[in-house]
Amino acid sequence: MLKGPVSISLRLTIWFGGIFFSGWVLFGTVMWINLKGTLRAERYQTLARRVDRLQDLLNKSRDESDEDRYKVFKNFSNATGNGLAEVFTSDGRRAYPSPSSAAEAFSWPAVGSGNAELFLHVDSAGQPYWVIERPYSLNGQALVLVAAAPEAANLIILQSFWKGLLAATPILLLISSAGGYWLSRRALKPVDRITAAARSISIGNLSKRLPVSNSRDELQRLAETCNAMLQRLDSAVNQIKRFTADASHELRGPLSFTRTVAEVALRNPHADPESRKAFEDIVEEAAKATDLLEGMLTLARADSNSSDAVLEPVDLTAVVEEACGLARTMADERNLTLSVSTASASRVSVLGDFSSLRRLLWILLDNALKYTPSPGRIDVAISAVSGRATLTVRDSGIGIAQSDLPHIFDRFYRADPSRSQVEGSGLGLAIAKWIADLHHADLSVESRQEVGSAFRLVFPRSDLKAQ
Ligand code: ADP
Repeated sequence: MLKGPVSISLRLTIWFGGIFFSGWVLFGTVMWINLKGTLRAERYQTLARRVDRLQDLLNKSRDESDEDRYKVFKNFSNATGNGLAEVFTSDGRRAYPSPSSAAEAFSWPAVGSGNAELFLHVDSAGQPYWVIERPYSLNGQALVLVAAAPEAANLIILQSFWKGLLAATPILLLISSAGGYWLSRRALKPVDRITAAARSISIGNLSKRLPVSNSRDELQRLAETCNAMLQRLDSAVNQIKRFTADASHELRGPLSFTRTVAEVALRNPHADPESRKAFEDIVEEAAKATDLLEGMLTLARADSNSSDAVLEPVDLTAVVEEACGLARTMADERNLTLSVSTASASRVSVLGDFSSLRRLLWILLDNALKYTPSPGRIDVAISAVSGRATLTVRDSGIGIAQSDLPHIFDRFYRADPSRSQVEGSGLGLAIAKWIADLHHADLSVESRQEVGSAFRLVFPRSDLKAQ
């Protein structure tokens, strides 16, 4: 038995081969029975004709003497090439012994006492024969006319028929299986196309549809049904995206108003310490909420593909210098060493959007600063790995558990925040990933807990330019 998943084409091929094989066996058996019957009938006719002839001669010699009649029988025997024929009396004696030695040596079956003609299968000297026994009455004497013919030639015909049938079996089985496989592959080709298209559809490109063939069959119905489902999903997801974007947008105003009011209140020198603390909390929380809303708005825009980023040649080294300038102050404050290295003296330029790339790098640096305890290191490097511009941010921080690694680019995913006691929204890396996608660049991470993490942004080959 086949274990594990078996493709439909393979199953159809096996079925096709199996059905063909059963049909072939049935055909062979029917043909064999038919052929055997035909050969038997041919033997019967040959023997019946011989006995008819003998009977005719005996009838004609009815009025002759016994000796003359014996002569007639001998002539008959000679004329048939001393063929196997005898005339027996009803008690089994030879009425006219055949001059043929073969007939004499032949193991004739015992003659029957009935009136019906018999057609028997006998063995003589190890060879198979057909024998006809016909009761006959001559001048009141009950006789039995018998004749025999060998069956060997028939057996050879039957044998070569079987051999031919068997020899053709593997070839025909092969042809039928190959035909079955070809047919099933052809019939299932649309399934492969649908599978490939379905695989390429994700939350980011729900507007894509499965290919619909015009075959008016089950596959067309399946593709149409899936497309209708995708249509429903697409509009539901769009509704959610619109809601998120609208909500984030609408909340920005009241939030910045709250923050401004709290900041104004803080400027009042007469405010009592308790109120001051409350206003400081409001300003801090409002700042966090603003960051979160900004992140949500950015991703909402990303979902609706409405980015104002324009890709043009950008000096990657300048991006690093600007982002690291800001990060260096914070690193110093936290007793972390921030180093920047470039592979060559030349500046590396890529096709991109300056402010988006700066934002991406800032997200990586901000995380490195947040998740690296002091004293620690943060290394930013620009290099050309196999001809592709590569930006790496490596830290000696707390690292990320292997189980978290596949999810850290998901929205709102935060890897066990209790480990780091660091605040965050879980949107930073999702935004970084979106910016990387915008640049057709690959953002990946390698990390080991308690050792550190390395985020690597690899640009497409054509973008690399050294100045
Ligand atoms: P957050 O606002 O929580 O930092 P991010 O999307 O930027 O959200 O990061 C997602 C999660 O990935 C973080 O919560 C953190 O657990 C993990 N992470 C990201 N960068 C690092 C890093 N440099 N070191 C350790 N963990 C990190």
